[in-house]
Amino acid sequence: MTKSLEEINQRITEKRATVLTAEEMTRLVTEEGPEEAARKVDVVTTGTFGAMCSSGLLLNFGHADPPIRMTRVLLNGVEAHAGLAAVDAYLGATQEAPGKNPVYGGAHVIEDLLLGRRITLEAFSQGTDCYPRKEIITSFTLEELNQAILLNPRNSYQCYNAAVNGSTRAIHTYMGKLLPSFANLTYSGAGELSPLPNDPGYRTIGLGTRIFLGGGIGYVLGPGTQHNPASRFGTLMVKGELRGMNSRFLRAAFFPGYGVSLFVGIGIPIPILDAEMAQATGISDDELFTDAIDYSSPRRDKPVVGRFSYRELKSGRVKLKGKTVPASSMSSLPMAREVAQSLKKLISQGGFLLTSPVETLPTSSPTLSLQERPLPEGSRQSTTAQGLWNEAQCIRCGQCIGVCPGKVFSFNPSGVFEVDPSRCLKCGLCLDLCPLGALHPEVIR
Ligand code: SF4
Ligand code: SF4
Repeated sequence: MTKSLEEINQRITEKRATVLTAEEMTRLVTEEGPEEAARKVDVVTTGTFGAMCSSGLLLNFGHADPPIRMTRVLLNGVEAHAGLAAVDAYLGATQEAPGKNPVYGGAHVIEDLLLGRRITLEAFSQGTDCYPRKEIITSFTLEELNQAILLNPRNSYQCYNAAVNGSTRAIHTYMGKLLPSFANLTYSGAGELSPLPNDPGYRTIGLGTRIFLGGGIGYVLGPGTQHNPASRFGTLMVKGELRGMNSRFLRAAFFPGYGVSLFVGIGIPIPILDAEMAQATGISDDELFTDAIDYSSPRRDKPVVGRFSYRELKSGRVKLKGKTVPASSMSSLPMAREVAQSLKKLISQGGFLLTSPVETLPTSSPTLSLQERPLPEGSRQSTTAQGLWNEAQCIRCGQCIGVCPGKVFSFNPSGVFEVDPSRCLKCGLCLDLCPLGALHPEVIR
């Protein structure tokens, strides 16, 4: 039994599609097998709701009068990255405002925007001829922005490790408070309900997949940073318009001793094209395992001290080092279920069509780590003693042609850029002109 995506979308449009959540699908596949499940079901909805630190917001404020080229941007005191042209900025979810109590960060700004609150913008610049303004202090709401795009470089881990603490003192981590002597365990992810474990071969998920993101509509942009399928650490890069999202599914959080993060709700619909996809989405918590890692180790490659199925983890107790200890989730299973149910409702009502990825996720990726290497000598290639024009740096844009009275620069009839230094009048008009640094004023002077 096979179905095309077009057939499934046709059934969705006609409100005849059979949609199950991944948990419901697991039960169906167990009871009736993948062939029968593939015959009965069109779409399986997945869901996860966890702290996803690698998240952020891309904003465009629009131009002020007189205009400013923002080189420093603060939003409610939280620094956003402003190296993106004049009035664009990227606000990282984990960026914190210095000295604020209670702690306040980028995730809180995102949540405040969704709650309709007014945000203070402080922007600064050195001033330029085209952007003379040096400072603006104002405020805005979500509705008063040109663009507010949630743009998350790494979300929705396929399977994240569990955390324990083998030291003699309690430690505070992004995996929560870990008690000494392996006295508790924390884990993340919704197991059989999570998106990527339901399509581990990445047959249906990739660039262009339409998803439920933060209560609104989003898209997969491709593999997230640190995507590592070999270790079941697949990740997703996602985006979506913040307008249309809901603060119920995007929640700011603060982990004492670690910092600010953003809880993100993500649901991915998986088309049941055939029995293979039914089998994949029938995966159960008994078949999904993760390693417990000792977070008290300062090493990047922390020691593995146990391995547990999601069935064991979700039971709330695990056996660790001969003792039974509490296992608690860093993400919310009830909220993950709400995500999967919300997406199921959207699809069942005909309001959400599935997309075919333009490019599926890679099944292998580099797993490089940061090494302490020698620093490079000098910052830029020296431009001295190379003549008037550095051919290697020139991109042949032709700006210099427009200002040079000596006709030193030209495109010949074949379209080849040519330079004739012998024609130079040493007028200096091309000083500080070339955006690539390919002209050498010291030679002209
Ligand atoms: S302005 Fe610079 S980069 Fe552009 S053509 Fe002239 S030398 Fe080359
Ligand atoms: S200094 Fe020479 S190369 Fe530069 S604009 Fe004048 S004539 Fe042209």
